Parts: sequence; structure tokens; C-alpha cells
Amino acid sequence: MSKYSSSSKPRRKSSFNSSNEKNRSAQPAKGMWSSNRSQNSNSRRPQRAVKKYDPSMFIKKVEEQQVSPVYIPKNMFADFAIADQIKKNIMDKGYEIPTPIQDQAIPILLEGKDIIATANTGTGKTAAFLIPLIHNIVTKKTSRVLIIAPTRELADQIRMELNGFKMHTGIRSVLCIGGANINFQISNLRQNPEFVIGTPGRLIDLEENRAIDFSKYDAIVLDEVDTMLDMGFINDIKYILNKLPSKRHSLFFSATIPAELRIVMDKFLRNPVMVSVKTRQSAENVNQDVVRVGQKDRVDVLHDLLIKPEVTKSIIFVRTKRSADQLAKILRERGFVVATIHGNKSQAQRKKALTLFRDDKVMILLATDVVARGIDIDDVSHVINFDLPQTYEDYIHRIGRTGRAGKVGQALTFIVN
Ligand code: AMP
Repeated sequence: MSKYSSSSKPRRKSSFNSSNEKNRSAQPAKGMWSSNRSQNSNSRRPQRAVKKYDPSMFIKKVEEQQVSPVYIPKNMFADFAIADQIKKNIMDKGYEIPTPIQDQAIPILLEGKDIIATANTGTGKTAAFLIPLIHNIVTKKTSRVLIIAPTRELADQIRMELNGFKMHTGIRSVLCIGGANINFQISNLRQNPEFVIGTPGRLIDLEENRAIDFSKYDAIVLDEVDTMLDMGFINDIKYILNKLPSKRHSLFFSATIPAELRIVMDKFLRNPVMVSVKTRQSAENVNQDVVRVGQKDRVDVLHDLLIKPEVTKSIIFVRTKRSADQLAKILRERGFVVATIHGNKSQAQRKKALTLFRDDKVMILLATDVVARGIDIDDVSHVINFDLPQTYEDYIHRIGRTGRAGKVGQALTFIVN
């Protein structure tokens, strides 16, 4: 799919004739980052202090492409003691060899042991917990599974993965996320689905509506727990964990284990097995640079970047929902085909935008930080920070959308002079 709405490349309206290279500089600028806090799609997320950063933090060249050492799994999917139908579903999904986290976690989870797994998105962690949990449901070792994820997109991604693995098992699932019709979720919960996948806020709303009884869930998965902590969900998580039955199967997946999380783990897990899949910081395969721009010519500079042949698939991050819509309008007027995703969009619109982008139907995605975490989209060549992120941590999450699967990605951060 082309980036442009017609066969000809978009033309800029104003004349901006310096090359982008000229605009890039490794020199730190003073006084950046003094912005107001953006609105976040997640109203429960606490306010974080806006810090000042040195733009040289956004400049880094990938010296040598990082190639993961070849991992030789101990098990093949056929070796796992799981139902034949699940093995068939795995094959139909095209998975041939277990990833390290799957190789190590699946046998532990089939034994019903609690687990703390340090693994980030992109390691195959979702299948690592779904495959054994589906088997445990099929064999009635477990009766109901509650999966909690920090963002709606991640929850939806888990549900999509589950749909493939549970084919012809009779297992039902419901997605319980904000921004989607709660009545539909309530009526689906009445059918007693074996899997409930949701975000903390909506799950608690459903409990307040007496639509879900957490004490009936004897398996719990907390995915990306460190992100949930970051997003201020700690009390919601503790609240839900306290309502679960004491005899339960608990699975915590997290990229990092901060001290605060250790306390939660000590309290809520029973003799957990620790599994660690060493993954490099996702930013290591990303060339990072800044682009110096004037407030007035920012869009022109962006335009020039977007028409470069090497910019094949890009995510442009902006700070606010409003600026995402405004920039989308301007880019469309200039002939670009773009999709937008931010917290004011309905869940259906957010899903549609991500699907178009994931399926290469749209090659430019305009986003606020809602998509920065956890989303795994192939072949994003460039992350462009049209607006600066709020924190360096947000920056790392943004740029981690490129440079995946052993490829080198490019991250460009606009610095307004
Ligand atoms: P995750 O870390 O769970 O978000 O998975 C990252 C990506 O890897 C997803 O697109 C999965 O569909 C894919 N994936 C997971 N496990 C395997 C496997 N064993 N073989 C091939 N692809 C996989």
C-alpha cells in the first residue's frame, strides 16, 4: 500500500528547501521539555512530573546490528503434554518451534505451578501462558482464567491470540475493556466464559455492576505488570488479587521487576518458579537522532521525511488527542494516507486504525502514547516524535515500536528551535 492517496507523491505547499540532514544535529538544546502534561486516555493514570531532558539522549547510532543468539529449545510443541486439538491449533497458527519463554514456561504451567516470568512483548509470552492455560481448562484442572493487561490494545491482542489457540475446544472468552459497550460485556459474562481478558478499570466497573465475581477465577494472569504499576493500577490490581480464591494458579509476566512489584509478588504468589528470558533493551536496534525544526516549518520537515523512500512504515507520535487530529487533517490535505489512534477514539476506531496499519493498508499511523506500550507491529521503519514525549521512559516505549525482530529501526525526535 502506498503512503499517498494518489499515484503522485504529495507536494508541499510552502517551499522548504533545506535538506533534512541539515536539520539534524547532535547538539543539545536547552530549555526543552517544559511542556504541560498531556491528557492521557487513561483517566486512572496518575500525573507524573514533567522532567527536563537533554536532546543528546535521543541520539544514538546502532553500531552493529544486534542478532539474538540461536536458542535451541528443549521441547518441540509436539513434546508438550497438551491436548491434540491444541497442538493442531498451534500448527494451524504457523508456530513450529517454541520460543525460549514458551519452551521454559509451558511445562511449569502445565504442572500448575505459579510463575514469575521476566519477558517483554515480542518474546512469544502470550502463547507461553495461553497454551497451558487452555489445556488446563480442557482437562478441568482450572475452571476459569482471568487475564489482566494494562492497555485495551494489549488485551485485544491477547484475545486475538487466544481465538487461534482455542479453536474447536468449546472454550468461550470475553474482552472486558473500557471504551467498549459495557452491556455487551455484561451479557457475555452471564454465559460464564472460561477466559475473561480485561483492563483493571473496566473489570472493577463490572464487579461494581455485579457482572463479574472474581472469587470464581482460579487462574490469574497479570501481563506487563510493571507497566500496570507505571500506569498507577497498583491498587486496582491488589483489590482484584484480594478477591480471588486463595487456591489459585497465579502467573505474573513483566519486563522488569521493580521493588514495588516484588512486594506484591511476595504477598500474592505461592512458591513461584522464576523464568527469565533475557531480552535486550528494545531500543538497542534503533538508530536515534534529532531533527531540528522551527515551530512554523515542522509540518514541512515532516512532509519531506515522509516522502523519503526509506520511510516505508512510520508511527508519528504527538502529545495530545487534538494535535493528532489536526496533524492528520493537514497530512491528508497534503495527500498522505494516515490512520490515527488516541484516547478520544472509540475502541472500534482504535482497533480499525491498528488493523489497517498492521495489515499494511495504511503506512502512516498518528498516535498519542496509548499505542506506545506493548504493541507488536511488524516492519515499522520509523518512529517520528513530532512532539516530545513526557518522560524518557515514554520515549523508550515509543521508539521500541521500531527495530523489532532483529531489524534496525530509526527514531527521529523533532526538537523545536
Ligand atoms: P508476544 O510476545 O506474545 O506479543 O508475541 C510476539 C509475536 O510472536 C506475535 O506476533 C506472535 O504471534 C509471534 N509468536 C509467538 N510465538 C511464536 C512461535 N513459537 N513461532 C512463531 N511466532 C510466534
